[in-house]
Amino acid sequence: MELLDGKLVKKEMLDSLKKELESIERPLGLVVIQIGNDEASNVYVKQKEKMANDLGMNFKHIMLHENVKQEKVLKEIDKLNKDDNIDGILVQMPIPKHLDAQIIQNRINYLKDVDGLTDINAGNLVHKKDGLVPCTPEGIIELLKYYNIDISGKNVTIIGRSDLVGKPLASLMTNNDATVTLCHSKTKNLNIYTENADILVVAVGKAKLIKKNQIKDNAIVIDVGINRQDDGKLCGDVDFEDVKEKTAYITPVPGGVGQMTVACLAKNTYKAYKLRKKING
Ligand code: NAP
Repeated sequence: MELLDGKLVKKEMLDSLKKELESIERPLGLVVIQIGNDEASNVYVKQKEKMANDLGMNFKHIMLHENVKQEKVLKEIDKLNKDDNIDGILVQMPIPKHLDAQIIQNRINYLKDVDGLTDINAGNLVHKKDGLVPCTPEGIIELLKYYNIDISGKNVTIIGRSDLVGKPLASLMTNNDATVTLCHSKTKNLNIYTENADILVVAVGKAKLIKKNQIKDNAIVIDVGINRQDDGKLCGDVDFEDVKEKTAYITPVPGGVGQMTVACLAKNTYKAYKLRKKING
């Protein structure tokens, strides 16, 4: 078993990005809009802020009340869309139920959509065109590439079909010539698909759901889940201690995919800057 060390790969990615950013004419601008005071979101936003500060970006955290009207959120986004010094805008998920996430996501200029969730960027991904790709799936591909793990021809099973992780990852894996199975809560006989996976990605949000009897010998296991246990510690959707000896590679939680998500947000912010420059001059 070898660990896929997200912390190490993130550091290397950010060190090289920092050098590139020294040569551009102004600091990149990244804005996170948070709606409500969700405890997990507070932690994720802090991680993003730290990354942005470490890279010398201008970071703005817009905190809106949980009862905010949708019109007000859209107006905030319109202002940021117009601001030439803002390169990346993201709305921290989840947002309160009275708001329509799709309408809000799609209000973001697709050239500033660093979470890759607008319909335009989702379409670009499916059609294998250049665009902004959601950070977590992109981070998973980066991590596999860093460890020289070939994706082409592999059987990849993904559990979880969210717009943020599972669905875009299925497209990215397909674009990298994997044979992809996308599972979800209505999947019957889940074990058939997990046992057949050369690469198993779990993005469900249920602590220690996957056990060693469900995976293939020498599988590559990517654990996206982040769950808070009763003792306050974090764990993934995979029972790490149970499965680790049966795997060829496995991501730890914490220290795996979450680190790559932050690294890819930095990468996407720079990419957004370059895309806008190419189109708008
Ligand atoms: P989500 O939107 O809640 O989606 C969960 C998915 O899991 C759904 O597709 C659901 O199926 C499926 N599911 C639920 N129970 C299942 C079961 N028993 N068997 C098979 N599939 C099942 O979650 P998400 O946003 O993708 O996040 C998933 C996890 O990843 C969470 O723990 C989240 O905190 C974590 N996460 C981590 C990062 C990171 O950077 N590491 C980033 C994003 C998310 P249905 O579609 O049928 O409901």
